[in-house]
Amino acid sequence: MVDYQSPKNVMAESTDSSDTTPTKKILVIEDEADIQVLLGYNLRVAGFSVIQASDGEEGLLLAVEHQPDLILLDWMLPLLSGIDILRQIRNHAELRNISVIMLTAKGEEPDRLRGLNGGADDYITKPFSPKELLARVHALLRRASGGHNNILSCFGLDLDIEQKRVMRDGQVIHLGPTEFRLLEHFLRNKGRVYSRSQLLDSVWGRDVFVELRTVDVHIRRLRKAININNKPDLIRTVRSMGYSLEPPTE
Ligand code: CA
Repeated sequence: MVDYQSPKNVMAESTDSSDTTPTKKILVIEDEADIQVLLGYNLRVAGFSVIQASDGEEGLLLAVEHQPDLILLDWMLPLLSGIDILRQIRNHAELRNISVIMLTAKGEEPDRLRGLNGGADDYITKPFSPKELLARVHALLRRASGGHNNILSCFGLDLDIEQKRVMRDGQVIHLGPTEFRLLEHFLRNKGRVYSRSQLLDSVWGRDVFVELRTVDVHIRRLRKAININNKPDLIRTVRSMGYSLEPPTE
């Protein structure tokens, strides 16, 4: 069973609708009726206009018709799977720039990585809190409406390249310059595993002499900084291979 909060609890925390004027449209493609109801409720309370579809074909038709600002796309759907729909969105002239957040169930990890390559802007794992979902939605919409790509956002992280600022779920994180560059590299290549020497080349530069274990030191600092308040770890250590930035595994 999905542990969503009851509507009366949600009401109190959904006050952040400051950047939703003019009303942003969100298309939810999800076949489970109770999740549709809860998503629709929470998004409307937050000031969004919500369009809902229960399968991929209907979703794609509604996307073309309504040109939503963002699509919440469930992974497991009847007929067309979430990844098929995502592919069609990215190959469709009128839809390809729409932000997409994929909804996945626990344990769909290999799928999640395939989805990142398939062009999802972010992921959220069920069960999720409405608060977390809304934070992701707002972050993506802010980035999209900024007009330039100064902010890299994923898994609740927002990295502002110009202002050198990093946030996790809206909370400011302080990073040293090397940790900042490491995180920027991971956010640009999320889901990909990098060896320590690849990280040295990409983040420190090829001409710099640094020992491999220096990478581990900075990874440790980065991990400690972004896993603020015991939030789930986003940096995965792949034994004898290296590191990658991935959605939390719970
Ligand atoms: Ca489903």
